[in-house]
Amino acid sequence: MILRPYGVVLRGRLELGLEVEVVDGVVVSIGPQTGMPDPYVLSPAFVNAHSHLEYRGMLGLIDEPEYVGWIRAITRMKTSQTVEEVVADCILAAEENVACGVAFVAEHSDRPGAAAAINAAGLDGIVFQEVITFMEADGPAERLARSEERRAAAAELVDQAYLNPHAPHTVDGATFGQLAGYGKPLSIHVAETVHERTFWEDDAGPLAEVYRANSIPRPYRGRLLDYLAAQGALRPGVQLVHFCDADPADIAQAAAAGVGVAHCPRSNERLQCPRAPVREMLDAGILVGLGLDSAASSGPVDMFAEMRAALEVSFRRSQPLTAEEVWDMATTMGARSLGLADWEIKPGSKVPLVALDLAGCLTTDDMLDRGGPESVLWQTASG
Ligand SMILES: [Zn+2]
Repeated sequence: MILRPYGVVLRGRLELGLEVEVVDGVVVSIGPQTGMPDPYVLSPAFVNAHSHLEYRGMLGLIDEPEYVGWIRAITRMKTSQTVEEVVADCILAAEENVACGVAFVAEHSDRPGAAAAINAAGLDGIVFQEVITFMEADGPAERLARSEERRAAAAELVDQAYLNPHAPHTVDGATFGQLAGYGKPLSIHVAETVHERTFWEDDAGPLAEVYRANSIPRPYRGRLLDYLAAQGALRPGVQLVHFCDADPADIAQAAAAGVGVAHCPRSNERLQCPRAPVREMLDAGILVGLGLDSAASSGPVDMFAEMRAALEVSFRRSQPLTAEEVWDMATTMGARSLGLADWEIKPGSKVPLVALDLAGCLTTDDMLDRGGPESVLWQTASG
């Protein structure tokens, strides 16, 4: 099949005048156009590098302005949701991911529902089955056993499903080390807020208060990334989610360790997190993907809004990204950050494609200005 789009996106850059030959879902060749182009732009489908499908029903429901109050509200609301509601929320969010051009999700899942929704929507993905042992009525062994049951069920439905520590401060030290020690891919919420640094380094702030009030033993005192390294969780195959409060030493350490990062700018802005130093991460050679996180913090499931936010936040930091870099983070680089090597339009790649109603755009900046879920015309499945 010869595709003759108006434009083709190669590593985030909009190129005009090319045609693409695809055989059995594999890109065979790219060359100069030999016929009249059709009015659409062809891009690798989007990769949602960090997702919580199960919180879709909380869209617009939480007013808490800052992270600490917000996470408490989520934890409270979770207890009042039925299994059926969670399953329905996962299905809706998975369908909305497809509708905005996403073909792959890296999903953090606590309760059941996400893997089936990913599968039913025709998405591909990784399920990181969360383990949380902090402030739970059950002991770590029970929590681990229940998460493993859910992971095994998810593994029947998606290609990859791993047991995964939710965050360094929500998992006890022994369980954290055990999970990291499996040597499998991990995705960990790290340095989302300033409260983590004050907790780990200064034994102060709201997290330290919760630990003290509940007599929870601290697993470590010192730099958070040193703790991750000591636990075997700073290595290739690990994704740090958010990494907002990252200083130059943290970035250098993460880059040297070969970890990836998921950047979730809309969620971070909503929860008053520090603006993640993505420019510095890219310059250090870290692979960064773009994550839609959860609708409870990010708002509507919309990769175009996320890309615009990434660009805007970088300008507000006076450490600008280019539109091409942001599109690359939402596609090829995001995929590479999750270990998917060939997520780009090049000969030999079996990459899901999306056709966008963005003919007439001259640059990736134009596409970011004009694009939205309504721009998605068709896409090829990845699963
Ligand atoms: Zn998250």
